[in-house]
Amino acid sequence: MKILVINSGSSSIKFRLVESTSGETLAGGLLERIGLAEGRMEYRRGSDEKIRTDLPIPNHQFGLSLVLRNLTDPAHGALGSLNEIEAVGHRVVHGGERFTQAVLITPEVISEIEENSFMAPLHNPANLLGIRAAIEMLEGVPNVAVFDTSFHQTMPPVAYVYPLTWDLYKDRGFRRYGFHGTSHQYVAERTAAILGKPVSGLNIIVCHLGNGSSITAVRGGRSIDTSLGFGTMCGVMMGTRSGDVDPAILLELMESHGMSASEVKDLVYKKSGLLGISGVSSDMRDVEQAADAGSERAKLALDLFADKVRKYIGGYAVTLGSVDAVTFTAGIGENGWEIRETICAGLEAIGARLDVEANRCRGQERVVSAPDSRVKLLVVPTNEELMIAIETERILGLRS
Ligand code: ADP
Repeated sequence: MKILVINSGSSSIKFRLVESTSGETLAGGLLERIGLAEGRMEYRRGSDEKIRTDLPIPNHQFGLSLVLRNLTDPAHGALGSLNEIEAVGHRVVHGGERFTQAVLITPEVISEIEENSFMAPLHNPANLLGIRAAIEMLEGVPNVAVFDTSFHQTMPPVAYVYPLTWDLYKDRGFRRYGFHGTSHQYVAERTAAILGKPVSGLNIIVCHLGNGSSITAVRGGRSIDTSLGFGTMCGVMMGTRSGDVDPAILLELMESHGMSASEVKDLVYKKSGLLGISGVSSDMRDVEQAADAGSERAKLALDLFADKVRKYIGGYAVTLGSVDAVTFTAGIGENGWEIRETICAGLEAIGARLDVEANRCRGQERVVSAPDSRVKLLVVPTNEELMIAIETERILGLRS
């Protein structure tokens, strides 16, 4: 099935045309600076050279029409006609408690995604722009919403209720939702396939380590706990986000140091993490370079990063009872073999031993644990677009 996958931001659209049966990417690209004077489009068919076009893209409808024009272009298109697109799968960040799985988009679903926008004010309205554009431009083609949160809706209350007050959860919806669900699901399923076992019988800890990071405990293919929560600043340390910190510090900053709520928000979301400690960059490669060049703060930032990840892995090993595999994914998890080595030093405590040589790889599926390691360690490049395409097919009843 040819499925167009759309990840729409407020001023951008990422797209991928996927042949969901084979998993092949037929074409893909990115539109940026939508609504600004100078927009830009990048498009690539298969493994062809990337084509870059600079032009104003006034809105998402226009943006999507450019995508469709490129996909059917006689010279560099990937489709004979638009009729070949059988469905559109949309990434939607927040499905709240309502959406426990992907869903066929109807006017009611659009209203409910709008209602959930208060929990993801930067994302859900932007995702809806792409949905509305697709409905308008591809008449008669089914649209499916695939939520970042829904994979985590299988968590038990002990994982999602915060020990604040019951009313805050019951009446106002303050609970752990979790994010990166599409990635965690894809990576857990690939881990099982690589190990040649059904996912239903495995306990897997997935470490999605990118600019934003989260760790998930997956039992039998279902999320039972995850490190991101109501929002996206808790859990492990990230590029610019602090991860878990003592909230007393934040209260003190507001009460005694004259910082406003929005300044504190800016601090924990944009100025902390790798950037805040290293003082160099939020990008792992820059921090590693600075550490190699002798920066003590950069070294501390790397040690802190590894420590937080390790603690979550240890905690989830206990939550799961036993662990079959720990899998690394996303920009840092897939490529950063040095930081993987640092993280894995210490995982002997849960029965995982790294094969240091095998671990020296970037961006490829590989088992990186030593042959006698009881717990397998793996690297699996994530593929959220393929997972969205597969979920879209499932929801349309075209895949079991
Ligand atoms: P996002 O959360 O924005 O999707 P990504 O998954 O793209 O983030 O991850 C970005 C992170 O991956 C950056 O910190 C970047 O430095 C890191 N990264 C990419 N390549 C490498 C590499 N070769 N070694 C170490 N880190 C890498």
